[in-house]
Amino acid sequence: MPIYEPIIGLEIHIQLKTKTKMFCGCSAHETDVQPNTNVCPICLGQPGALPVPNEQAIRFGILMGLALNCTIAERSKFDRKNYFYPDLPKAYQISQFDFPIAKNGFLDIEIPNSERKQAHIGITRAHLEEDAAKSFHTENGKTCVDFNRGGTPLVEIVTEPDFRSPQEAKIFLQELRLIARYLGVSDADMEKGHLRCDANVSLRKLNKDGTVDGAMFNPKTEIKNMNSFRHVERALEYEIERQTQLWEEENPPKISTTRGWNDGKQITEEQRSKEDAADYRYFPEPDIPSLELKEIAEEMRKELPELPSARRVRVQEEYGLKLSDARQICDDPALADFTERTFSELLEWVGNTSEVEGLKGLARLVSGWLLSKLTGLMSERGIDIRTIKITPENFAEFITLIATKKLNNTTGLKVLNSMLDDGNDPTHIMEDQRLGQMDDEGELAEIVDRVLSAHPVEVVRYQAGEEQLLTFLIGMVMKETEGAAEPGLTRNMLLVKLKNLK
Ligand code: ADP
Ligand code: ZN
Ligand code: MG
Repeated sequence: MPIYEPIIGLEIHIQLKTKTKMFCGCSAHETDVQPNTNVCPICLGQPGALPVPNEQAIRFGILMGLALNCTIAERSKFDRKNYFYPDLPKAYQISQFDFPIAKNGFLDIEIPNSERKQAHIGITRAHLEEDAAKSFHTENGKTCVDFNRGGTPLVEIVTEPDFRSPQEAKIFLQELRLIARYLGVSDADMEKGHLRCDANVSLRKLNKDGTVDGAMFNPKTEIKNMNSFRHVERALEYEIERQTQLWEEENPPKISTTRGWNDGKQITEEQRSKEDAADYRYFPEPDIPSLELKEIAEEMRKELPELPSARRVRVQEEYGLKLSDARQICDDPALADFTERTFSELLEWVGNTSEVEGLKGLARLVSGWLLSKLTGLMSERGIDIRTIKITPENFAEFITLIATKKLNNTTGLKVLNSMLDDGNDPTHIMEDQRLGQMDDEGELAEIVDRVLSAHPVEVVRYQAGEEQLLTFLIGMVMKETEGAAEPGLTRNMLLVKLKNLK
């Protein structure tokens, strides 16, 4: 059986989060407004209206190019891409053809649980363009167009055909989303259409030794109409299967085509054969002078923030976190900020105390309480780290209370819940709710005695050999103290008293 290797390349559009549109002053990205309200003669393509490029969009596009290790063009220009469609009032889109703002970059991604652990993905180019309007179909068969989206800024990123599996494509898209969020250029939410992706895929035949048998590149399918990472992965898997069958029937694709993902049916469907660049009759946009980008590029290079891949490594090393925890924390820039501020508070405190074993133990506490408990409680309440009432200072104080055993898992959870609900600091909550760890042995001893005399049957059974009843008795003490008893102390005290009762 011959082996067929998938060859995948992506074309991605990202909506840039600018206040205004790409070539006019209309408000961009406003949701909850009436259709066709954010429009003007420029974005409606009326004769004589002149486009003016949006500087913020250019800056955002350059940032994206720099983050993808691209060369930024010293001189760039806009071109007209001609096609006729109801959502394109000028009958051309202002885009970039032969002088994109950025080209020749790459992004390295990590691929877990796969043969190829790392993939080096070449970035062919990144260019700026305007979005089309949105058409939708009514129940009575009419098609309406809302021009609010028409003319909003996009950066289009084209990759080399460097992916070898649908999983690699998905991981790349997720990393790209994160980079856009770190740069603040887009929310890059696929479900909301901030990030859109067309996926190109073909197969090639391999010999047993891994060399290519036949053509290096074969006619491809371009898949459209996917609006989640899962769709991209599924559509590629489906298409690879479909093409494999064609190859096995000795009838491989002879021309490149475009297919649409039908998520309901979980299949791709033929749309049309692919148009060529020639069909678009690209030519330079005569109304916009060329862009001189050298200075802006230097400015933007200085503004480039730490990117996710670098932050993961640093956060892991600096605080002694596990890689998987560092990854989860850095997957949300706001969560990463919260965590780092918590750690810097904790570091001050560690400097003044000998009560904990140091940063390693703290890292374990922080990631445990933050990633499993706090994120869980937040999602139960439908809130987010950006709107949380807990400050990093209070969270650090909370961790110190756990680290010094003033709170245990049970009382800690109660305090954390209260902190989430009313934003108070943990020490006050502890005092208010009398949740301090009960380290007063006299008080605990009384409660233990009370529990023992309330359960004479269990005591007798324990002494007759049913040792598992100790857990039950510890539980009863915890219940009496509402979780405030220190479990180790409780256990010892019970053991001593049960022995003495014999
Ligand atoms: P088109 O003729 O469709 O414009 P391009 O050469 O511009 O093709 O490439 C568009 C995208 O398709 C890029 O992401 C590229 O990496 C990818 N691609 C090109 N050739 C192939 C191929 N043979 N198989 C899979 N993907 C490909
Ligand atoms: Zn406008
Ligand atoms: Mg092309």
